[in-house]
Amino acid sequence: VPELPEVETIARGLDRRVSGDTIESVWIGSRKQPLKSPADVIALTLAGKRIMRVHRVGKHIVFDLEGEAQTGKRTRSGQPRPAASRQRSDRRRSVAQAAQWVVHLGMSGRMVVSEPATAIRKHTHLIAKLDSRRELRFIDPRMFGKLSVHPGGFDPGGVEPLEVSREHFVALFRGRKTPIKSALLNQKLLRGVGNIYADESLFRAGIGPRRRAAAITQERLGKLHAAVREVLLEAIALGGSSISDYVDADGEQGLFQLEHRVYGREAEPCLVCGTAIRRLVLAGRSSHYCPTCQK
Ligand SMILES: [Zn+2]
Repeated sequence: VPELPEVETIARGLDRRVSGDTIESVWIGSRKQPLKSPADVIALTLAGKRIMRVHRVGKHIVFDLEGEAQTGKRTRSGQPRPAASRQRSDRRRSVAQAAQWVVHLGMSGRMVVSEPATAIRKHTHLIAKLDSRRELRFIDPRMFGKLSVHPGGFDPGGVEPLEVSREHFVALFRGRKTPIKSALLNQKLLRGVGNIYADESLFRAGIGPRRRAAAITQERLGKLHAAVREVLLEAIALGGSSISDYVDADGEQGLFQLEHRVYGREAEPCLVCGTAIRRLVLAGRSSHYCPTCQK
C-alpha cells in the first residue's frame, strides 16, 4: 500500500512528465468500482483540460486542471451524450473552470505514462490521451483504487504531517484515548502516515505503539512530531519503500525499505539495544516495536 513518501515520489514523477500537457480525450472502462465520480462526469471534466501541476495531498495524487472541456463530441460507444451532460458541458464551456482530478492508488493501483503503441494491460480502468500523443493509464488489478473529480477543489480533511507545526501536532492528540499508533493512522488527524512510517516514527521517538495518545507528555509528542518529519523526509529522499510491487512513475523501486529499523523485522535484534523486535496487531494492523527502546 503506497503511503505518503511513495505517493509523493509518484506524484513528482508524474509532474515531471505530464505537467503542461493537455488531456485530449478519455476512455473509461466498464468497471464501476474505481469510479468515485460518475464516468461521464470524469470524462467531461478531464477532456480538453491542461494539466497545470501534479502533486500529493495525503495519500492522494492530485492533478490540477485548467482549461475548457471539449463539447459536442460523442461518447466512445457512439451514443450522443444524455441531455444532462450536454447541459453540464455547456455550462463548463462558458466558465473555463479549473478542477482537480484525484487518484488514490489503493492497494495495487498504478498510474503510468505510456506510448500509445504499448499494449494495454489487463485491469486498465482509464486512459487519458494527451496532446503529446502519450497516454496516462490507470491500472488496478485489485480495484481498491479510486478516481474522482472535484470542480470545487479537493479536501480530504486532516493536516499534512510535513506542514503541521509542533503545537498543532501536539494538540491533535489531546484527550484521545486510543493507542498512539491508531491515532497516527487516523487520516482525519494526519493525512498520509501509514503503517510503515507510523512504526518507524514511534521507534525513533521511543514511544510504544499501545501507549494512549492522551497519556503522552507534550515533550514526547514533540519528539514524535520531529520523528515523523524525519522519517517521511528520509523516505521521500530515497524514493519511498518498495514493499511487494511498488514502483514509482518511472518504474524505479524505492530504497527506504533498507532503512527500516522495526517494520518487517519481527524477531530480529533491535539495531539500538539488541532486544528482539516484537509484532502485535492493533486495529487490524501489524505494529513492529522494540519493547526495550519504546515505552
Ligand atoms: Zn531496542
